[in-house]
Amino acid sequence: MMNTEIETNVFPLKVTTAEKVNLLDLDLPALTEFFVGLQEKNFRAQQVFKWIHQKGVADFSLMTDLSLSLRKKLPEVCEIRAPIVAREDVSSDGTRKWLMKVEGGNYIETVFIPEKDRGTLCVSSQVGCALNCSFCSTATQGFNRNLTVSEIIGQVWRAAQRLRELSLEAKSEIEAEEPKITNVVMMGMGEPLLNFDAVMSALSIMRHELAYALPRRRVTLSTSGVVPNIYRFSTEADAALALSLHAPNDALRNQLVPINKKYPIAMLMDACRQYTVDKPNRHVLMEYVMLRGVNDSVEIAKQLVKILEGIPCKVNLIPFNPFPGADYERSKVEDIQAFRAVLMRAGLVTTLRKTRGEDIDAACGQLVGRIVDKTRRNERFLQKTAVDGK
Ligand code: SAH
Repeated sequence: MMNTEIETNVFPLKVTTAEKVNLLDLDLPALTEFFVGLQEKNFRAQQVFKWIHQKGVADFSLMTDLSLSLRKKLPEVCEIRAPIVAREDVSSDGTRKWLMKVEGGNYIETVFIPEKDRGTLCVSSQVGCALNCSFCSTATQGFNRNLTVSEIIGQVWRAAQRLRELSLEAKSEIEAEEPKITNVVMMGMGEPLLNFDAVMSALSIMRHELAYALPRRRVTLSTSGVVPNIYRFSTEADAALALSLHAPNDALRNQLVPINKKYPIAMLMDACRQYTVDKPNRHVLMEYVMLRGVNDSVEIAKQLVKILEGIPCKVNLIPFNPFPGADYERSKVEDIQAFRAVLMRAGLVTTLRKTRGEDIDAACGQLVGRIVDKTRRNERFLQKTAVDGK
């Protein structure tokens, strides 16, 4: 922790960075409260919110529409502190994975997936995960802690900063420009509905027109099925919902997604129905990882059709991404096709997720971090480049 000594006439006052308010922790209502507390006008919050999130500015002296005295005062009481990019990997398909360092010596991963006319950022919500899904590599890491708002929205802030840098570099070399962040999916490490409040604040910043201004359908939260918080999400958030379903009966789902023992499929389907009720523009994205010989038969596809009856949804089949020590294999292509055909015949819109970033361990469920090893590689990386601006 950094200490700055400020000598006053009365007594030496120690101000640590930790005591300063990190403005990335504040959504707009909280930022407004902060400025009111400083005896400033409400609209200062909007100005600063825009500087931080729309323009990616972290230096108060550059916030030219603030009064000079406020520009001087702010660095004494607050700061803009995002996770630090400790390592960057770029896949042959253009997918970029960032290992980001957060407080307490922890690391999380954030992935950017550029496509022709969109750029999807996959954001983490916790360090590790407590849910122990049997096919997921994050589970092998166990649970460490929830991320703060600044660590969640800070992944978006940092990624946007890095993409801006890249597009500047690209222009000078007449290369294609990197797409911007057009979509965010809370599909990185962790269970977002078990870090509810922080995730909700971060989502509100992603959606806010003075910040990232992402439309409702372009911000997706994925959950393993924390039923009570799906109900809360339905009313408190205005964002898309994805569910890691993976099995159509309790016996199988209990094995794959153990939280199913607490919130079984019938309860889960009720919660999904509730999310869409009276909201004609909502549907649930059902994620389904294809595990060879485990959940990929035609019989199981028929069961899946049954449980999804009457729920506005789409199905996204995800070929299993193997990782060292995994007990599963990816389904055969012909089995995936047969499974998909059953769903399509029943009228379910069913897509197959393209695996991206496999060569850099950035594919779904691979965000584990062989952290110790990576940390060493990081140090070398940091010596070589100064990716991180602050
Ligand atoms: N905890 C949340 C967020 C994680 S999202 C959730 O469970 O929804 C990541 C998605 O990738 C989830 O659908 C997850 O089940 C899936 N996944 C995890 N490990 C995977 C793997 N090895 N291969 C393919 N998909 C995987």
